[in-house]
Amino acid sequence: MNFALSRFVLHFGGSLKTANSGRNYGGFLFFPGKTRRFTASSISKVQTTSEELLVVVGGGAAGVYGAIRAKIVAPHLGVLVIEKAKPLSKVKISGGGRCNVTNGHSADKMVLAEHYPRGNKELRGSFFSIHGPVDTMTWFSDHGVDLKTEDDGRVFPVSDSSSSIIDCLMLEAKRSGVLLQTGKVVTSATITDSGKFLLKIEKRTIDSVEYVEADYLLIASGSSRQGYALAVQLGHSIVDPVPSLFTFKIADTQLAELSGVGPMLVTHWGLSGPVILRLSAWGARDLFSSGTLFVDFIPDIHIEDVKSIIIRHKNQCAGIGGDILWASIPKNSLISVASLLKQCSFGVTGKGQFKDEFVTAGGVPLSEISLKTMESRVQPHLFFAGEVLNIDGVTGGFNFQNAWSGGYIAGTNIGKLALDDSLKEEAV
Ligand SMILES: Cc1cc2nc3c(=O)[nH]c(=O)nc-3n(C[C@H](O)[C@H](O)[C@H](O)COP(=O)(O)OP(=O)(O)OC[C@H]3O[C@@H](n4cnc5c(N)ncnc54)[C@H](O)[C@@H]3O)c2cc1C
Repeated sequence: MNFALSRFVLHFGGSLKTANSGRNYGGFLFFPGKTRRFTASSISKVQTTSEELLVVVGGGAAGVYGAIRAKIVAPHLGVLVIEKAKPLSKVKISGGGRCNVTNGHSADKMVLAEHYPRGNKELRGSFFSIHGPVDTMTWFSDHGVDLKTEDDGRVFPVSDSSSSIIDCLMLEAKRSGVLLQTGKVVTSATITDSGKFLLKIEKRTIDSVEYVEADYLLIASGSSRQGYALAVQLGHSIVDPVPSLFTFKIADTQLAELSGVGPMLVTHWGLSGPVILRLSAWGARDLFSSGTLFVDFIPDIHIEDVKSIIIRHKNQCAGIGGDILWASIPKNSLISVASLLKQCSFGVTGKGQFKDEFVTAGGVPLSEISLKTMESRVQPHLFFAGEVLNIDGVTGGFNFQNAWSGGYIAGTNIGKLALDDSLKEEAV
């Protein structure tokens, strides 16, 4: 089967047109967007070089990694990544610009799964066995990126620059023949009579619309609403998206006096630090609307022990230097002090964004896909990977690991299906 032009309907502002085809970096077409116009000839480039087409929605970590893998497994497959902005833009800003690629302290899949507030049960299966943190680290080092594991398990490029990861992925995409088009949004997806995906792609800057027909569709659109809408159009449901990994804004002057660094970081505007981020992740859904936070400042000591320690100290103090104020505090008030230490309440007035990492909980429910293949249980040849799924992790590289694992598994299985299809065609 060849890509016949009729497989695509190209529609630009009301009429069919052809124009220039963008720059071709050895099979890797890059369309800078602002200066060059997307054209019919760029689409036909994909058509003439391959038999079947995979369209990947989203050039983020999951999309690019998945696209490369699909192309490696099935070199004859046309692989086209559509990215509405710049590719790998979150990789760029991730980890404070250093990119925390994965976590090197969690090789065991059961331990690994515990770091995912959404997905912790489902990810205990084959997901990380197929492509886990060690595989990710091997992949990047095999492709020329030296990595280091910090004491807390976070893995970064030795360069301490996310550009190392971006350059590596872009080079591999180019080398394997993945096509990337930027500045375009996939705005709708329907199923044709022949079971293929008819995608509407818009380039808003020049008010153009085009239609592409794809044999395989990988939705790797992160937390974008457009991505969720595509999933719904193709028969999926969406678990309401809510932010995860945030800090708590608290307007409490007494709290500001406690400013300091520790697992719970107290600042003049509220609370942050590892403990708070972990809490925000596990409680993302409950904490969606502002509420009251109860802090146990001494979690290792039982309330009854706290009471007796305070009362004992009062008795001690009473004997020293006539500390009348302390000594005269009634027992009930001391018990209140103990309760306050164990259960201090703060009104949370809002969420602050943690600049190093941020993720969305919610998305396509895991019950609607197979985590062994990342294929939809609703629509054959439809795949998902990354944050678009109802998977999110705590800080430490777990969110990128979800993107690498999902992208790799999806790419592998799309590639295998494409190989099977081409063998069947040859047999006919
Ligand atoms: C500031 C920040 C720092 C972070 N740091 C880390 C870190 O150090 N380690 C870690 O593990 N995680 C980190 N994360 C989380 C991590 O970036 C995400 O979990 C990860 O990027 C998800 O990858 P993805 O490919 O699923 O989605 P994304 O990276 O969001 O990529 C999706 C892409 O799809 C595009 N897109 C969406 N809809 C459409 C459409 N309809 N048509 C065309 N294109 C579309 C988007 O423009 C986007 O480029 C960080 C997040 C933030 C915000």
